[in-house]
Amino acid sequence: MSTQTDPLAALRAAARERTRARDAAKAADAERRAAQARPKRSAAALREIVRRGQAELHGPGWPGASPDATREATAEEVVAWAAREFGDSVAVACSMADAVLPHVVAAIKPWVDVLFLDTGYHFAETYGTRDAVETGMDVTIVDITPRQTVAEQDAAHGKDLWSRDPGLCCQLRKVEPLHDRLAGYEVWVTGVRREEAPTRSATPLVAWDEKNGLVKINPLAAWTFDELLAYATKHGVILNPLLNDGYPSIGCAPCTRRVAPGEDPRAGRWAGLDKTECGLHV
Ligand code: SF4
Repeated sequence: MSTQTDPLAALRAAARERTRARDAAKAADAERRAAQARPKRSAAALREIVRRGQAELHGPGWPGASPDATREATAEEVVAWAAREFGDSVAVACSMADAVLPHVVAAIKPWVDVLFLDTGYHFAETYGTRDAVETGMDVTIVDITPRQTVAEQDAAHGKDLWSRDPGLCCQLRKVEPLHDRLAGYEVWVTGVRREEAPTRSATPLVAWDEKNGLVKINPLAAWTFDELLAYATKHGVILNPLLNDGYPSIGCAPCTRRVAPGEDPRAGRWAGLDKTECGLHV
């Protein structure tokens, strides 16, 4: 009888063991969270935390920064601050253009909730990225779906609402569902970066989100696109393949086109229309 080990069988056994260990860690974290769950604090209490955070994290020149601030906090420092202040009441928003933000946060808060807005209109590559993040990273994916399916929306508002009234379409498929889900958290973390668009150039690291009634932090606000890619390369972070195919900004398929070299990175979003934002961040 041969005593040689089948290398494929060994690899499969190792993969099964990794999956088992991952599932056990995730279940243990869910149990710990359930045991430590507490009610959401009042808006006044959360605003006070924002005031302290702005003094602590923002560098010289920012409104609310400490008078002796010498520099702006790094992304990791912002996340560590949020972990201290908000415990488990943290949600990370991710469009699945890349998994850099979930990676930055999960390094400090494993199994953090990562919210994915499933509008029903994403590219296949975006759904593939979502699945790869769920199976390959120590995060908990939370799919958020609109109140109506695409078919129900077509029946109620006519086919392809995005082509006639993208503002309403984004309101129904992004803004309202996210608003509903954020009610359960004290802070949400976004990947908004100042260089992405003129509308984002004054993005703070921490702010009060009046529209959604919770704290909003933007740890990557100061990052450039090159810094984002450098982080992804260094840490082997999952990227949406469309990023390397002419789509530096990835939204729903009907409202996103390729960008030419030298164009604004968000020029491919709602191209030809006045609309530049979906309403989640401005
Ligand atoms: S990006 Fe386009 S398809 Fe997606 S929700 Fe907005 S209008 Fe609708």
